[in-house]
Parts: sequence; structure tokens; C-alpha cells
Amino acid sequence: MQDKRTAISPGIVIGCGVGAALVWLVILFVLIDLEQATLVVAGASGFFGAMGSGIGALWQTWSARHTTEYLARAEHDASHDALTGLHNRNALFQELEWSYKRAKETDTVLGVLFLDLDRFKVINDSMGHEAGDELLRIVATRLQSAVRGSDIVARFGGDEFVVVCRDLLSEKSVLAVATQILKSFAQPVSLYGGVQVVSTSIGIAIARPDDTRRPKDLVRDADAAMYKAKKERSGYAVFDEVQRMQVIDRLDIERDLVKALDEEQFVVFYQPLIDVPKKRLYGFEALVRWNHPTRGIIGPGDFLPVAEETGMMARIGEMVLREACAQAAVWNHLTADAHGIKMSVNIAEQQLIDANFPYLVSEILAWSGLPAEQLVLEIIEDVIVDHLDGLTILRDIRNLGVNLAIDDFGTGQSSLSYVKQFDMVSALKIDKSFIDEMGDGSTNRAIIEAIVAMAKALDLRVVAEGVENETQVRGLLDFGVDIMQGYLFNKPVRSDAIDPVVWFKPRGNDEGAARPGLTPLEVSRALAVQAAASGPNRPPRKG
Ligand code: C2E
Ligand code: MG
Ligand code: MG
Repeated sequence: MQDKRTAISPGIVIGCGVGAALVWLVILFVLIDLEQATLVVAGASGFFGAMGSGIGALWQTWSARHTTEYLARAEHDASHDALTGLHNRNALFQELEWSYKRAKETDTVLGVLFLDLDRFKVINDSMGHEAGDELLRIVATRLQSAVRGSDIVARFGGDEFVVVCRDLLSEKSVLAVATQILKSFAQPVSLYGGVQVVSTSIGIAIARPDDTRRPKDLVRDADAAMYKAKKERSGYAVFDEVQRMQVIDRLDIERDLVKALDEEQFVVFYQPLIDVPKKRLYGFEALVRWNHPTRGIIGPGDFLPVAEETGMMARIGEMVLREACAQAAVWNHLTADAHGIKMSVNIAEQQLIDANFPYLVSEILAWSGLPAEQLVLEIIEDVIVDHLDGLTILRDIRNLGVNLAIDDFGTGQSSLSYVKQFDMVSALKIDKSFIDEMGDGSTNRAIIEAIVAMAKALDLRVVAEGVENETQVRGLLDFGVDIMQGYLFNKPVRSDAIDPVVWFKPRGNDEGAARPGLTPLEVSRALAVQAAASGPNRPPRKG
């Protein structure tokens, strides 16, 4: 980079000198005797010449020093993060490239640690961005003091940091660095008068001297391992062979997804929701599957995250919404018993941040002919919390007459404290993880009880998902949860497996078939559950 001051300094010096000499000459000719002028001019030129070179030399020194500082500062700014002073993403990749080459030359191990702060968003949203920034600075300082001087610490973006550990003799040393970092996070942080415990999840990619990946792939792999660490709440996780296969798989999925929509490879399955005390079908949840030409049916967990990252989620979501609304409208047409049935459709974050989404919903309702009150949109808790400022979209949808439900309730960051703000939500779906372990005395029992009490106070309907056995049914009925969804009743099935005459028909109490599509054995088991749930000591239930 060229500093303008170096280019103009001689010009300025000469200009100043000549200008001042001319002024001096004019004064001489006007004011004093011409005979003495030669002497005075000679003296003055000497004086101004000396002064000119002095000023020139001073200017050069000042300019050179400031140019060096200026260049150094510009170089530093281009390679460092303004908030934390750590290396930025560009500098990280440069350093990584260099370190990777060097590790191969020196036969040493290179470790890349990818860190993501846990619950940073909650702190940022609840305490303000200044507190968030301060926290990131504190974390940066902690990281720098937890690693060795030769390691590189970079801010990768947001609340993500990357540490590159160089010149290591064994893989164990990388793990030691991760442990050290986790230890340094154990100390609570004082932040704006409050004390916060901040934790982080670390993903680790280790490159041995014979590694064949590209240096930037190490960051990608460490990032993948970080997700594992976060999911398993294990502090840190090392990228391994299983994950490597998953990455390859993921690349295949990414490639195939592009044509899957055009070739209509996505199929919608429907899982019933049962109103157990009323012994009737309450509704369905539409769940997407990918009918892959060579791999067969792929579940949403294996491709939706890729669709989200590649920006395809909104298109897939629209297709599911359209299909589910059309299907419910067809059932309405086939039997009047289907009219009260609710159709639940999952809505992804990418759909919810689109300001046009309410128009799309309204257009699909008009196109399919499905009454708005039969449609339920399920949104996972974290997505709602992350978009509290986008609640107008939810309100617009609610104003259409469509119902909103919070999905996977209890697993997110918000839970009870946030739910009060969602006055437009009409139902909560308790996550399967709570239903799984609801034996006597378990914490989950207490959580379910609290969720149900809160939901009742806020006039919200509660749905239990993932109900797999009769003990769970009994427990849930005890708590006052009436609507259940789970493999005990039915797995998700294709629409052609649903016979509207059998599934939608309301049944009298004495018929006892609480579920559609049941085998005789299942019917008798269901009856046993019903009998136990409404035994002689229990107050009669409504409905
Ligand atoms: P979800 O919305 O919580 O759906 C319930 C999931 O639990 C479904 O998994 C369902 O098959 C499964 N499930 C229900 N009962 C039981 C049970 O008794 N035992 C067990 N083990 N599982 C049960 P699925 O179909 O694999 O879907 C997983 C998640 O993928 C869904 O969780 C939802 O978050 C997402 N998803 C599925 N379809 C769509 C879609 O069209 N759009 C969006 N945005 N997300 C979708
Ligand atoms: Mg759902
Ligand atoms: Mg769910």
C-alpha cells in the first residue's frame, strides 16, 4: 500500500522554499536599496536553502515513521478481528495453510479446535449486545491464556472461535489443550454487575503428517465434531472415521437434493394424533420423507439439515404444506367425519423468516380449499425464540385463523419463561425425550407436570409425542394430557394406507377402538389401557 504523504513531501518542501524566497525578493525590491540587494539575496538564499533542507529532512523522517506505522496498522486491521483483536477468518486460513505445510515438513501433529459458545444468543438477547461484545472479549482473553504462545487463536465469526495448535508430538497434546480451554471456561464471568457461567463446545480435527485433507477441510471437520460435542454435551469431541463417512454421505446428499425436488422424490407421510379419552382421531402430523432412487426411503433427520444449509428448505417446506393441505381437503371431501380433523405441518426457520410466508399460507389454503382452522403449523421452540422480533409473521399467520403449536417443547433454550409471550400459540407438543423416561419419581415426570400446569393456566392444548407404551399413556392421562402421538398408536404412513371410512369414524365408548388402523390384539391392549386409566377410583373424565 502506498502512502500519499511519501509522494507529496518533496513537492511540498520545494514549493514552500521557492514560494517563501519569491515573497522575500519582492519585499527587498520594494523596500530597500537595490545595491545591497545582491548581498541580502545571497544571504537569504543560503538561509532559506538551509531551512528548506531542514524542513525536508524533518518531513521525510516524520513521514517515513508514520508510513511504517500506518502500513503496520492497516496490515494488522486486515488480519485481525476488530472486537477481540484475535486473528480473523482470512488470517486464520493463511496461518493454517502455512502451519499445515510446516507440520508435514517437521513430521509433527497439527490440531484444529472449533469452539462455539453455548447459549450465547440468550445472553446477547437478554443482556444486550454490549454485554455480548464484552463476553466475546473476555472469552478471547481466556482462550489466549489457555493455549501456548505458538498456537493461533482466531475469531471465526459470531460466537465461534478456532484454535490451531502447532508443533505437537502427539494427538494427546491436542486433547490436553481442549481440556485446558474447558477448564478456563469453568470460572464464572462477571458481566455488567451479574455473574454468568459461560460454557463452550469444542470440535477437534487432528492432522497427522500423512494427512491428505486440504487445510481448510480441517476447519470443516472440526466444525462437524463441534456439533457432535454440543449434541452429546460432552465438552469436546474428536472428528473420527464415522463422521468422515458422514461428511462424504452429506456431499452425496447435497448433490442429489438438487434434482430431488424437480423429480418429485419427496413424499409426505402422515402420523395420527389420538384424543385418547374421546377415543377418536384428533388429527395428523405431516412428515416428509425422501424416496431416493437408489437409497430408498430417507428420514428427514438425514437430509433436512443439508436442505437447510443449502437454502432448499423453504421449497421443500412449501411442497409439504401444499401436499398436506390438499390431502386434508380431499379427506374433507370424502367424509364429513374428517371435517374437524387437524392437519399439522412442521415449519422450518427458513420459511418463518420470509415476510411473504403468511401470503403463501393464505394462497395454499385458498388453492386447496382447506379451512384455516384445520391447519396447525408446528414451530420448534428455539426457532420461535430466535425470531422473537419476527413475531409479526406469526401474528399474520394467526390472523388467517391458522393454529400455531410449539414443537419439541422443553428441549429448547427458552421453555417456561418465554412461552408467556406466545399468546398466539394454541398448543405445546411435549418432546419425546420427556415421555421416554417418565417412570415414577423421575425428573421428567415433574417437568411434564409443570408443563401441563403452565399450559392449562395459559389455555394451551398439550400434545405428547413419541408415546410408545401403555404405562406412558396411563401416566399422561393422569397428568391430564389427552392428545397423544406415537408408535403405540401408529407410525407415520403414506396417505393411501389411510382408509377414511375406518380412520375418521367416531366410535362409541363401547366400541373401544381408541385408534385407527389397529390389529385386534392392539385393540384389546388399548381397551386395557382405557380401563386402567378410567378405573373406579378415578373421577370421570370429560368427553
Ligand atoms: P417432529 O416434528 O417432532 O416429529 C415427530 C417425530 O417423532 C417424527 O420423526 C416421528 O416419526 C417421530 N415419532 C413419533 N412417534 C414416535 C415414537 O413413538 N417413537 C419414535 N422413536 N419416534 C416417534 P420423523 O418423521 O423422523 O421427523 C423428525 C423431525 O423432522 C420432525 O420432528 C420434524 O422436526 C422434522 N420434519 C419432518 N418433516 C418435516 C417437514 O416437512 N418440514 C420440517 N420443517 N421439518 C420436518
Ligand atoms: Mg412436529
Ligand atoms: Mg416434535
